[in-house]
Amino acid sequence: MSFSPATSYKIRYAPGIWEKMCVSVGAFDPEHYAILGGRLDDPFYVTDFMPMPPLLDSGGNYRSSSAAVTLNGPFIEYYLNTCLLPFGKYFLGVMHSHPGGMNSLSGGTPGSGHGDIPSMRAHLEAAARYGEPWHNFIAPIVNYPGPSPQVTTWVVRLDTPRPILAEAIWEISHQAPDVGATSVSKIDEILDLVRYRPDLVRALLQKSDVLKAFLRRRNARNEDESGHVLQQILKRRVQTNKAATQPEIMPSTENAGMIIPPFF
Ligand SMILES: [Zn+2]
Repeated sequence: MSFSPATSYKIRYAPGIWEKMCVSVGAFDPEHYAILGGRLDDPFYVTDFMPMPPLLDSGGNYRSSSAAVTLNGPFIEYYLNTCLLPFGKYFLGVMHSHPGGMNSLSGGTPGSGHGDIPSMRAHLEAAARYGEPWHNFIAPIVNYPGPSPQVTTWVVRLDTPRPILAEAIWEISHQAPDVGATSVSKIDEILDLVRYRPDLVRALLQKSDVLKAFLRRRNARNEDESGHVLQQILKRRVQTNKAATQPEIMPSTENAGMIIPPFF
């Protein structure tokens, strides 16, 4: 099909989904699949990704071949009920793999429910019957599973006869740890702390579960705030120690800055 930029769709995938794809659908032999979830009021943003086993046949084997894969309806329903609906999310589509370089959706007799496009349309029709405002079936195809999988993202809509090729945006986590020089220097800082304040390190490690739980309650997503809370705790501890034994210590704020990494 020709790709007209005027009708282009942009599908965003949340941070971490590329990595999950790489170790599941993007790693297994075709055909395998994963369920995509997200909010229907933001229908082009995939926030959830769940690889699933194909349906089993009567012999307990996956109903999966290099030509087709049968989705596991009960598993999908269970996932929908436990991980998507309770969080205001819904099913947005299915990623599946194809052999070789076949990166388009397979056809099939309209209305048969067999073949990629008919079965995707059937899902959209079923959602419409239930009154679900789900109009875009996001259907990425994975080719060349292995070290360098390729993904082509399609959107199937009932009001459009053919699948729409979409632009995929794979978001990157802004909280990805920098595993370069930073982590080495952090380890040096921790070692310094162990050398200068073994008592403090030991005491904190003993209470690390309590600390972590406390910090999470305080809003662990906000690292600044977590750091601040931890600093307050450390400050109090250092002051208490100082009052009790008057040890030679490093300034508490420096200690506080160093000890944050191992707790997250
Ligand atoms: Zn297919």
